[in-house]
Amino acid sequence: MLNTHIPLKPLIAQQRVVIASSNAGKVRDFASLLAPLGWSTLGLHEVDAHLPIEAQGPQATLAGNATLKAETVATHLNDPTLWVLADDSGLFVDALHGAPGVDTAHYGGYPKLLEAMRDIPNTARQAEFRCVLALARPGMPTLLAQGTDTGCIAPSAQGDHGFGYDPVFIPTGFSQTFAELKARGALPFSHRGRAVSALIEALATP
Ligand code: IMP
Repeated sequence: MLNTHIPLKPLIAQQRVVIASSNAGKVRDFASLLAPLGWSTLGLHEVDAHLPIEAQGPQATLAGNATLKAETVATHLNDPTLWVLADDSGLFVDALHGAPGVDTAHYGGYPKLLEAMRDIPNTARQAEFRCVLALARPGMPTLLAQGTDTGCIAPSAQGDHGFGYDPVFIPTGFSQTFAELKARGALPFSHRGRAVSALIEALATP
């Protein structure tokens, strides 16, 4: 759960953060998750920066891709007053041996996933979303944090909010999908919310 009661050192209060993502859904999630901390977010278009090409395939990792995105944009901007935050995330489905995983962005969307899971019974539809964050700034070591949210793949798409695979992911302890639950905004218990929480705790730790 996002802990907004951690005493923040001056280093991390009221920061301006460039979100190194072209995914409007992620950018919205971050703006909502970071606002309670007093951090303001900027999009890539506002600072005239571009993303590098991410690694794909067996060698690719969430941490490697998040670090690549954050450090490439931070190096390009070369502004010590701006943090750059990148996220690499994916959906790991047990019945598909962890697919789509790190390559979720290139898998083909939730209709393809529902089709691949058509014959999988309700008792075997476990999955988890994983998110790794990288926070970079010129002259400082890049900080990594991760968050996971377990759940299952719904039999059909439900809900209009969020993005990506939100309409088919039901987090543990709920009967609705992320796309239904996000009607109330970004979810602090989601993989991204937990990763933000872990990042803030790491920053607040002396
Ligand atoms: P990447 O992190 O840019 O490699 O993209 C990961 C992909 O995973 C996204 O394009 C989405 O399709 C999916 N994804 C990651 N996080 C979420 C989420 O919170 N909700 C729904 N889909 C997500």
